[in-house]
Amino acid sequence: MSVFVDVKYLNMLSNRFLLFTQKKEFLWNFRCPICGDSQKKLTKARGYVHRKQNDLFYKCHNCGIGLTFSNFLKTVDVNLHAEYVMERYRNGENGHSNYKKPIFKFKTPVFNAQKKINIGLSSIDDLDDDHLCKIYVKSRSIKPNKYKYLYFAQDFKDWVESLNLSNSYELINNDPRLVIPFIDEHGNLIAAQGRSLDKKSKLRYITIKVIENAPKIFGLNTLDRSKIVYVVEGPIDSLFIDNSVAVAGSDLSTSINFLKNCDLVFVYDNEKRNKEIIKKMEKNINQGQKIVIWPNNVPYKDINDMVLNGVDVMKILKDNTFSNLEAKMKLVMFKV
Ligand SMILES: [Zn+2]
Repeated sequence: MSVFVDVKYLNMLSNRFLLFTQKKEFLWNFRCPICGDSQKKLTKARGYVHRKQNDLFYKCHNCGIGLTFSNFLKTVDVNLHAEYVMERYRNGENGHSNYKKPIFKFKTPVFNAQKKINIGLSSIDDLDDDHLCKIYVKSRSIKPNKYKYLYFAQDFKDWVESLNLSNSYELINNDPRLVIPFIDEHGNLIAAQGRSLDKKSKLRYITIKVIENAPKIFGLNTLDRSKIVYVVEGPIDSLFIDNSVAVAGSDLSTSINFLKNCDLVFVYDNEKRNKEIIKKMEKNINQGQKIVIWPNNVPYKDINDMVLNGVDVMKILKDNTFSNLEAKMKLVMFKV
């Protein structure tokens, strides 16, 4: 499916285009890089990429230019275009030999995965080993290769105010927090969680929304959509699970709309006495979703607890993923 090669390359370019947004599945909009778009109104964006059969096309309603995606890419970045041509060639040669039914899955380029995002804070990577926040992160057994996804704010309120958000939050002064930024697949900061470093704090976690209507999902920037995606409750928990996301607010079902066509497995906390969680698990099963049902010999209530107690969580997830009738039966046993 060559259209997915086009989508991949469009995504690779996305953070170079001003006001880049995806309007719907195969429609993107941004300021036209060819004519520069309206000079009077910097908020105007009249460049569109849309799909026609198996290809993407570019059209600008300001200068009127219309190009195949290939020619558009060539205009914007000659070197990237050369790579693109090679990739389409390889796809065309190999892609049809074992052609099955088209499954609309593709790997979102994870161009931000290895890169630290600049959110105006120091990442845990950059802190001294004896720093309060780094000690806290270590105490939760988070691996050093994940430190780059976590940050520290000496004054959380100050940092939130610097983002100039439309929502206001009741925050207190001089409240140092571990900051867990939610970054989308284009590298945009969409939300953030602040974890208190003060044991006496009443609010352990504070979640702020940076982009209205964006999903409150952590881990979109490092996700491979072609593999099994584990959906868990806590961002820190997700750092221990391969290819996972965390949904703030524990309604894991909200991820379904944003992760269409992904092979999702829902992983709730291990809380058999929590009626709300059981209800959500039942709902997922009834919707035909895959779900992890913790075996009864695991006494720890969340993934981080399991890791801290030396449990091989990935193995448990793989061995205890169920759906449909089997899931219903396991859930009955889980509840007792
Ligand atoms: Zn134009």
